[in-house]
Amino acid sequence: MDMVFCKDDGEEYEIAEFVALPNAERESKRRALLCTECNGFAWYRKESRLSPAHFCAHHAEDCTFKTHYEDASESDDDALELDHEASNTLIINLEEEKGGSIEVAEPHPERDPNKEFDGSTSNSFVRRRFEGDSPQQSNLRRLLLRLVRSASFRSSSDEVVFYKRQNEVFVNGAIKNVVKRFDQITKFDDDRSALFWGPIASVGKTPDGRLWLNSSKDYSSASISIFDDIVDDFLDLFEVDDIDDLLGAWVIVAGTCRFSGDGQGKPIIWCGTPNYIFVRKYRDPNLRAS
Ligand SMILES: [Zn+2]
Repeated sequence: MDMVFCKDDGEEYEIAEFVALPNAERESKRRALLCTECNGFAWYRKESRLSPAHFCAHHAEDCTFKTHYEDASESDDDALELDHEASNTLIINLEEEKGGSIEVAEPHPERDPNKEFDGSTSNSFVRRRFEGDSPQQSNLRRLLLRLVRSASFRSSSDEVVFYKRQNEVFVNGAIKNVVKRFDQITKFDDDRSALFWGPIASVGKTPDGRLWLNSSKDYSSASISIFDDIVDDFLDLFEVDDIDDLLGAWVIVAGTCRFSGDGQGKPIIWCGTPNYIFVRKYRDPNLRAS
């Protein structure tokens, strides 16, 4: 993608123009970028060893700038089978979160034609279906994918319970109330603990060693601040070598939201535990929260 629209100043930028902007101006504008055609969330990535500077976006299904992948579905992901199950209470033990590569598995995994499919996936599906009304064990990976994919899931009244550890609840309630996309954060969320999620437009480290994951103006300009003592663990958990690899990923974090500037500024969610956060990029071009 060579062109991008900046909501800040109403201008379109070519990549070379954007690269030439003064640093402070570019850092500010990169948090207000949209696709010129579909208005999808867009981000800027500076030149690296692997690629020249460029723009990317989460495009709408019919956008002509959409990248085409042969098989772009998240079909390997067991989040999908959960979509078909009867809704009931979700249980997520944050203590058991294990991270995983930020990149999704390559599409079309080669399956050994000589090896018979053992049917384990369908068996587990059947078993879960007959569990009746017992709570479903889930995790942040599945939750994030369902949130990104499904507007009805985002606004559902299904109960979810997040445990810090055995019998100690971090937060519980209806999904629509305790799992908030960044753009739904209001002043009432100041000092509130919940699950917050959205896309990452820019990243940076401050001199005190904290890692900042910033969303865009369309997403309340929310930021996640990751404490210096867990930054390395966090990057290891998600196999991130270059922090710019986090750009364009979706993130979900369990934490407390505080507004900067004595409550007048932007929402910041503080994260001091590596298993309270999950980041993932999705290949599916149709994955776009709207
Ligand atoms: Zn687009």
